[in-house]
Amino acid sequence: MEFIPAGEIIGEAHQVRTVKIKQSPQLPDGEYSFVDTYCVDPECDCRKTMIQVMHNGKLVSVINYGWESATFYENWMGGSSKNI
Ligand SMILES: [Zn+2]
Repeated sequence: MEFIPAGEIIGEAHQVRTVKIKQSPQLPDGEYSFVDTYCVDPECDCRKTMIQVMHNGKLVSVINYGWESATFYENWMGGSSKNI
């Protein structure tokens, strides 16, 4: 699986969402950007996005989100998650 930013796929129509956080008890102050990336492997059918969370230009977290049902991913992974 190779994931690339959506902006490299759809161009200028893409928008990176950002939030500014100040004086949060849990997070450092600053700007947080959410860069959604998508799999470009034509042999892969993972149907998910990996959202890179950037804080002041540094990668601080990745959100892994799949938009299909749990059943889809169970089948995609080759079995039921109840057996894991
Ligand atoms: Zn994939």
